[in-house]
Amino acid sequence: MHNHNQCGDYLAYISDYLDGELPPEICASLEAHLRECVNCRVVVNTMRKTIELYQVTSGDETLPEGVHTRLFARLKLDD
Ligand SMILES: [Zn+2]
Repeated sequence: MHNHNQCGDYLAYISDYLDGELPPEICASLEAHLRECVNCRVVVNTMRKTIELYQVTSGDETLPEGVHTRLFARLKLDD
């Protein structure tokens, strides 16, 4: 069984996990933890949304600066 003391270790892997750069063994271990741990699932979902938004906004050069700021400000408020 996993306990919450392990969360910090898994959280360190999450950005690599979302980048698809995590070794399969660690990836499977992280996914097993995510099934049990709602806290880490929330972190993964939040980070995934942030990355998707970042990719969308950074892929569109026509967006004015203020839109980026508002998007990220809203993310922090929603957290
Ligand atoms: Zn956790």
